[in-house]
Amino acid sequence: MKYDVAVVGAGFSAIAVTINLMRHLPASARIAVVGDDPGFGRGTAYRSEFHLHRLNVPAARMSIDPDAPEDFLDWLRDHERPISGSDFAPRSDFGLYLRDRLAALLRERDSRAKVDFIKAKAVGCLDIGPETTLIRLDNGDGLAVKATVLCLGVGSAPLPLGHDAIAPAARAVIVENPWRLSWLSKVGRHERVAMLGSGLTMVDQVLALRATGHRGQIHVLSRRGLLPHAHDVHHGTPVPIDLPETDRQISKLLSHLRRNVRAGAPWRAVMDGLRPHTQNLWQQLNEDQKARFLRHALAWWTIHRHRLAPDVGVELKQLVADGTVRVHAGFLQRIEATDPGVTLTYRKRGTSGLERLSADWIVNCTGMERAGIRHSPLLQAMAARGQLQGDPLGLGIVVNGQSQLVARSGDTHAHIYVVGALTAGRFWEITAVPDIRVQAQGVTRSICAALEREPA
Ligand SMILES: Cc1cc2nc3c(=O)[nH]c(=O)nc-3n(C[C@H](O)[C@H](O)[C@H](O)COP(=O)(O)OP(=O)(O)OC[C@H]3O[C@@H](n4cnc5c(N)ncnc54)[C@H](O)[C@@H]3O)c2cc1C
Repeated sequence: MKYDVAVVGAGFSAIAVTINLMRHLPASARIAVVGDDPGFGRGTAYRSEFHLHRLNVPAARMSIDPDAPEDFLDWLRDHERPISGSDFAPRSDFGLYLRDRLAALLRERDSRAKVDFIKAKAVGCLDIGPETTLIRLDNGDGLAVKATVLCLGVGSAPLPLGHDAIAPAARAVIVENPWRLSWLSKVGRHERVAMLGSGLTMVDQVLALRATGHRGQIHVLSRRGLLPHAHDVHHGTPVPIDLPETDRQISKLLSHLRRNVRAGAPWRAVMDGLRPHTQNLWQQLNEDQKARFLRHALAWWTIHRHRLAPDVGVELKQLVADGTVRVHAGFLQRIEATDPGVTLTYRKRGTSGLERLSADWIVNCTGMERAGIRHSPLLQAMAARGQLQGDPLGLGIVVNGQSQLVARSGDTHAHIYVVGALTAGRFWEITAVPDIRVQAQGVTRSICAALEREPA
């Protein structure tokens, strides 16, 4: 089968690219969208049905189209959702919005590029000519395409513990991938749950547990024991940040931000003011500076930058205050099977002393995988053939400034693009909708220009 473009993936990145392509390619073009996720366009993030699983970005910044910033708000209004631009809509609503916007374009079938949705996983991506790539599918089919956009997301991070440090009998109560929400129904109402990781994934899982009637003790263990901050109810205007031109040392940049806060600016507004600069700033850092940031500042960056919806923050605070959620800072050493349940041994942060926690369930909430290719047989196959190179700091795979894939040799695959968190090594801030939608638009422009240049 021949196509102009193959979009591989079934999450937000794939839907954003597909919508952009449908808007901008001529009606004669053919697009294949390859994915085996049941809720196309929703991915892990937007398929949750829990009301308290809110967006962590205000509704006014969640339009799929950066040039039509009101679009999500219009959808909310049309569907009589009482939500303003500074509110945090349920993630399930965002999933429905994406589905509706795609469906509207698909209905205009005579004037739009033709799209085939192919329910499969891509397992190979081979250049078979200067202008053609062959996408191999796990159902045995192959697609010959002129341009490919890999929108594969990243998998969930592995447990922060070696295989030998986990007793085999304990494995039955370890939930390695909490996004498969079926684990919730197995937990007894008063059973003890230990969450590994204290970020947004943990908060999601705690709220989901409570919503399903769980009333037992929840322990949270992470290296620093830091919880995410919440957005301000009175969402402030971002403070414009005037960064020093020359110095890109992390400590100096941090001092600069702190000075703004000391001068009276709310810290949230300072963080939001930094946002437009982040991608450029990241690209100006050298490898050492980036590594230092990841080593020393990442945990702090994450809790200030990726914040909770205000009412979710209130709920979490309450659960911590009443002792339902107990937070521990330390380094997990081993997990043993005991009767009943399991025991987690960890080294308390700042000490050499070992502490123990008892639980009936352990949930891996360490979030998204940073290294990026462990979860993907497709990327592993491409890496084995030298078609890609892992980012030196473990942040996905190497792409150039136009999001085109860079091979191990350093050559660019001009027809293979990557969109989403896999490109964090190049762009850093590229996991959330406000950034991915801009990247999807840029990639679409490049593809349209390349296809236009082609001889008929
Ligand atoms: C729980 C959660 C909540 C979030 N909340 C927000 C939020 O409120 N606001 C915000 O801006 N961002 C949020 N994010 C960030 C989120 O990651 C992005 O908004 C966006 O959903 C990422 O989409 P994606 O398509 O890049 O990745 P994913 O959603 O991970 O989708 C990747 C897709 O690719 C498919 N795939 C992988 N390999 C193959 C293959 N070989 N062949 C075919 N298909 C393949 C997978 O099955 C999957 O469907 C959240 C993330 C999570 C996990």
